[in-house]
Amino acid sequence: MSDTLQRFLFEQAPVRGGCVQLAATWQAILERHDYPAPVRNLLGQMMAAAVLLSSTLKMKGRLSLQMRGDGPLKFMVVECTNGHFLRGIAQCDEVVPTSFIELMGQGSLVITLEPQESKERYQSIVNLTGDCLADALGDYLQRSEQLDTHLWLSADGQHAAGLLIQKLPANWTDEEQELWIRVKHLSETIKDQELLTLTQAEIIRRLYHEEDVRVFELEPVCFRCSCSRERVSNMMRSLGYDEIQTILAEQGGVHVACEFCNQKYSFDAVDVKQIFTDNAIDGASPTRH
Ligand SMILES: [Zn+2]
Repeated sequence: MSDTLQRFLFEQAPVRGGCVQLAATWQAILERHDYPAPVRNLLGQMMAAAVLLSSTLKMKGRLSLQMRGDGPLKFMVVECTNGHFLRGIAQCDEVVPTSFIELMGQGSLVITLEPQESKERYQSIVNLTGDCLADALGDYLQRSEQLDTHLWLSADGQHAAGLLIQKLPANWTDEEQELWIRVKHLSETIKDQELLTLTQAEIIRRLYHEEDVRVFELEPVCFRCSCSRERVSNMMRSLGYDEIQTILAEQGGVHVACEFCNQKYSFDAVDVKQIFTDNAIDGASPTRH
């Protein structure tokens, strides 16, 4: 099983699909954090979903999926770039229930798009509905984008995987409509174990062997954190000179760990001085004197 996304199209109707499988990418997340199994599995599902949803966007940039709730799972976020670089994190109690509804309690789903070329962010917030993440996302796409979309998501300690089908806007004929219903029924027969163990080619063959499916080239997916020393410096600037001086006085340095990848960043008094000099502009490395 590899870290890839397989896109496909049905030749006889405007229906597109995607199938993603994560192995090393998923392990890279699990190596850095230890989650109770229900939270781990949900995070894996969210990672798969983020790749599938970002593959349906024309936009170049970053998609993030976020859930917040008043249950034992407080917070979960996954980010995926159009180059399929993924990172994700969750915050939860030590002991958690297994069901999605009990995990999240009253919760909301936040979907944010950050196009590369603009400073604008597009954000939608909806109440969490359905009894699994796949249903909540399908529901959201149906209501907000009027896109009939269905997802199947699965994850365990080894793999995370997902399947998506989406009905594209078009003037649909009766035959095409029938094909959509058939594709939906066929897709519903996918089992978690198949998603997690079969290759995408096997899954597509297993589900749609009687349909005319066009598959595209496999696209690589991988874990990559977007944190950097520059970003941490910018964050320190936004906290302000006085705040940072207080930390420096108390702790002898400023030590920051990225919560996504655990990368540690340390700044001493000289570093801090440079960060707050006038030549230090956002996104640029501080100039050394
Ligand atoms: Zn990081």
